[in-house]
Amino acid sequence: MDPSAPDAVVVEEISDAVGRVPLPLPLAELRSVNCYVVRGPDGVTLIDPGWVWPETTAALEAGMAAMGLALDDVSRILITHSHWDHYSQAYRWHLDRGTDLFLGDGERHSIQAWKDLDGAFPLQVGLLQRAGDDTRARLLEEHPISETERATDFGDPTTYLEGGETITGSDVPIHVISTPGHTRGHLVFEDTTHQMLFTGDHVLPRITPSIAYERSPDRLALRSYLSSLQLLLDRPDATMLPAHGAVQTSVHARATELIAHHDDRLKVVADLVAQGARTALEVASRMTWTRREKTLEQLGADHSWTAVLEAAAHLELLVWHGDLTKDESGEVDLYSVA
Ligand SMILES: [Zn+2]
Repeated sequence: MDPSAPDAVVVEEISDAVGRVPLPLPLAELRSVNCYVVRGPDGVTLIDPGWVWPETTAALEAGMAAMGLALDDVSRILITHSHWDHYSQAYRWHLDRGTDLFLGDGERHSIQAWKDLDGAFPLQVGLLQRAGDDTRARLLEEHPISETERATDFGDPTTYLEGGETITGSDVPIHVISTPGHTRGHLVFEDTTHQMLFTGDHVLPRITPSIAYERSPDRLALRSYLSSLQLLLDRPDATMLPAHGAVQTSVHARATELIAHHDDRLKVVADLVAQGARTALEVASRMTWTRREKTLEQLGADHSWTAVLEAAAHLELLVWHGDLTKDESGEVDLYSVA
């Protein structure tokens, strides 16, 4: 399924316990997010009920009605991570209805930074300067928070989860696994009864998940991300229930592809440094981006600054591996072959 195409399914019943309800999103590039509806004796558990938007409520009500359920049956909401397409509707219901809301502990950083800092991506401005990209740093600094974002409530859940917990109350116990990388507090949820994994944005079909696109990013997010992919490979394989796109038969197959993708990118980055690129901007400018192999300049503004920071994330990981060294004595981080 193309992530930019709307999903016409009302509900896909995946097991006796679980239904997938695709919810529309008000975004051009990502048209739907999957909410998983889990039945249970102690009320319905929702996973990732989408963006705070009337169309979301309508689609979820229709999907739940097809399962013989209603919104009032919802007892608790589990969230894979705090991006708005996963969290904002749930947070609204938490405020309005007092619904129990569970989120990964690592998301505290970005929620706190939302309260404390101004601007759309305040911490990324400094990272772009260190990447040698003053132009994009200035553009991002001037980039205002949109009115929609300003009007959206964002704050703490009822309970922060660290991973290792088991959530009860539904027909299948749901095991919580911490998978930092896409965001610092990303979680995946496991239905061990049916060997299914709700992978959120950690493992997606077709899309390579962005790393550290959050208000308070972690410098070694890529290391965390790759470790979190390996963690899934070290566990038994499972059916993959992603937050975007269709259900897939194997988490392992896709996690293996994503690790191989980043291995290739790490080699490209290391080679570019060996050929004389010193900064993250120089590296990013000499790489190609997306499946269409665009240059940095051909990417839209939003994608081009995340691309520069992704190059920086690969450089940081190569330093951590001992393949490169970093000179951070000046205003810009300079990398060399170790
Ligand atoms: Zn996300």
